[in-house]
Amino acid sequence: MSQDLAYAARLLLDAKRILVFTGAGISTESGLPDFRGTEGVWTKFSQEDFELDRYLTDRTVRMRAWANRFPKMFGNAKPNPAHVAVTDLWNAGKLVGCVTQNIDGLHQAAGLPQEAIAELHGNSDGIACVQCGAAHDPKEIEERWVNGDVDPHCDHCGGILKSTIVFYGEVLPQGELELASQWAAQADAVVAVGSSLSVYPAAYIPLEIASRGDTFVIVNAAPTDLDSVASLRLEGLAGEILPRLVGAITA
Ligand SMILES: [Zn+2]
Repeated sequence: MSQDLAYAARLLLDAKRILVFTGAGISTESGLPDFRGTEGVWTKFSQEDFELDRYLTDRTVRMRAWANRFPKMFGNAKPNPAHVAVTDLWNAGKLVGCVTQNIDGLHQAAGLPQEAIAELHGNSDGIACVQCGAAHDPKEIEERWVNGDVDPHCDHCGGILKSTIVFYGEVLPQGELELASQWAAQADAVVAVGSSLSVYPAAYIPLEIASRGDTFVIVNAAPTDLDSVASLRLEGLAGEILPRLVGAITA
């Protein structure tokens, strides 16, 4: 074990309520590009297509969004050892909760129960009306789409339907934000994985814990905006570092 990793493990060894904060970087090893990462490209999707104003006003943007949505948005992406390590931490009784900026559902796919996850940017599974909020069954909407309804609207009010991913220009889901804040208040340490920690209000979650003087470990391939307030940053691949770190503190 490297010196830094051993030091991080020592800092976290006595923690009982670790909050894990994850960003796109935890999923790059699952084959999903990190559009804010060093590669800087979102190969399959255009970032503009996730701007709420454009979505609401431009039918062709919505048509493209549904064409991306069906079939499954993230294809056959599978959880990697970093996702599994977060689940291991939960199973060991040391995780207060996992706050994620990701919409790929890979924490759930790695066996982490939904009750342990706060999805700050929503998720790609649900479909809801932007006007009345009514949830719609994705299978039904997909069937309508397959049968030629290229811009499906709400059954109840005729409003525009949208994936429950949080778009640019949209407020974060209140319930998820409250859950994340509760966990931040209860946490005695935080580990941030695969995030540049530059997007707010999400980044307030690790910042709040760190500002109390509690241990703050960052696992990221590149420098982050919060390196200066962290206990330390472990540089490298999350899928290699996190399993070793979690193994060292749960053994
Ligand atoms: Zn509606």
